[in-house]
Amino acid sequence: PAAVNRIAAGEVIERPAAAVKELVENSLDAGARRVDIEIRDGGKTEIVVADDGVGMGPDDLLLAVERHATSKLAPAADGEYDLTNIATMGFRGEALPSIGAAARLDITSRARGAREAWRLSVHGGAVDGPAPAAFSGHGTRVEARDLFYATPARLKFLKSARAEAGAVAEIARRLAMAFPATAFSLVSEGRRVFALPAESDDAEGRLRRLGAIMGREFEENALPIDAAREGVRLSGFAGLPTFNRGLPDKQFLFVNGRPVRDRLIVGAVRGAYADFLARDRHPVVALFLETPPELVDVNVHPAKTEVRFRDPGMVRGLIVGALRHALAEAGH
Ligand code: ADP
Ligand code: MG
Repeated sequence: PAAVNRIAAGEVIERPAAAVKELVENSLDAGARRVDIEIRDGGKTEIVVADDGVGMGPDDLLLAVERHATSKLAPAADGEYDLTNIATMGFRGEALPSIGAAARLDITSRARGAREAWRLSVHGGAVDGPAPAAFSGHGTRVEARDLFYATPARLKFLKSARAEAGAVAEIARRLAMAFPATAFSLVSEGRRVFALPAESDDAEGRLRRLGAIMGREFEENALPIDAAREGVRLSGFAGLPTFNRGLPDKQFLFVNGRPVRDRLIVGAVRGAYADFLARDRHPVVALFLETPPELVDVNVHPAKTEVRFRDPGMVRGLIVGALRHALAEAGH
């Protein structure tokens, strides 16, 4: 219950990348096997996320844009949510209403097995529809145009189209790493940034997906990591100390399937590599931590997912030990 209070309301969408994160997470929650993202002006004037998930009928569409309506989690009798047992990425029912308030929102969807597709629009807070629409196959297409058009003060705080596009690409890559069995594509300003085919849902598929994002050299040389301690399992791949990814983000960390940024994990990774890396180099790793929910507090703040471990020392030891072991085996 305490975790609920720390989810700041009204801060869901602060920049295009946050909107893309929420929309892609919805697609993944809907069981999508393919997610196609398109942005213009770094997402400031247009964000489109299309999926082949379960889709929505007309009633679902109306509920979807209602604040605090979620199909994913029901509050307990005391009105609080049990956040220790969340299987989906979303659960607050805030993303679509927030995007509807901040942008011109259009959702087109066809539920799996349904004959008709429906479209719902929210412009300036006013809901229009659902009305019959065209949609091939099943799934959902969400279009958000002119983010913050009604709040110039917030618009002013956005960075250049290029910087916002970079942030969108980064979050899209992180989600793609966590879901190798789903195909992902990103198009920015009409140009393809990446197109990742669906991979098998196993360690090989994960490595191929990582290779598609980090490059062939990583795929061929990265050291497999697999270790466990007290019910916490660490898996993934660690780049050789000589490997350098020419992009700002080099450490990709996931806790129970969610991309996270965490100082403890980053510190542990740097500690493990400290003896093998020059000061100005950073280790490249993709690490997946699976832990029983009661050992970790995932503060799913929409913008920056942070984690707090019940036993940080144990997690640090697990990571440092596993990485040092892998590096030693590789002759470092
Ligand atoms: P949450 O994800 O926290 O439930 P959202 O505002 O992100 O809240 O979405 C509201 C609801 O709309 C979801 O619970 C889901 O039922 C529906 N929904 C949103 N996006 C999709 C999608 N891409 N496919 C199917 N259903 C969706
Ligand atoms: Mg959601």
